[in-house]
Amino acid sequence: MADPIARLTVLLAKLPGVGEKTAQRLAFHILKSPSDYARELAEALLALQKEVRLCSICCNLTAQDPCGLCSDAQRDERLICVVESVPDLLALERTREFRGRYHVLHGALSPLDGVGPDQLKIKELLPRLRGLNELIIATDPTVEGEATALYISRLVKPLGVRVTRIAQGVPTGSDLEYADQVTLARALQGRREL
Ligand SMILES: [Zn+2]
Repeated sequence: MADPIARLTVLLAKLPGVGEKTAQRLAFHILKSPSDYARELAEALLALQKEVRLCSICCNLTAQDPCGLCSDAQRDERLICVVESVPDLLALERTREFRGRYHVLHGALSPLDGVGPDQLKIKELLPRLRGLNELIIATDPTVEGEATALYISRLVKPLGVRVTRIAQGVPTGSDLEYADQVTLARALQGRREL
């Protein structure tokens, strides 16, 4: 077994944006912290693996099924916003502009990377369309995001569902997750028919 500090450093360095130097600094920080911290951190990591799963309705990540958003009776269930990822969902939530429900695709169509409709949570969306007033597609403004928006729109419009796409203004080629709240709120308000 490797030295515990080296072992933790190697694991932390695998995190996005964390280089080896930072990883080592974090490892020493954890070592110096009160022992409760290391234990709570370890428990939180284990719980992440054990308890977090997909909401059976919207495919959000959650420890309770259905998730908090799906079980919130204050939210309009006739309005669904389709996003690529959970961080995108959280970014839209931060705008406080949207009071409907969500559907998380867990990716976008990318045939070159082997991501087709079956790899996304699209079939989970279909049973949710009955009685829907509007489906807002808020995939990223990238080639993959646009292709996904088009695919879903072609799939559900024949079923009589109104489909809209959030406005441009979120810079093309970027990830929704990193758009600022004002830009995102404006994109949501300025959505157009697809
Ligand atoms: Zn849910």
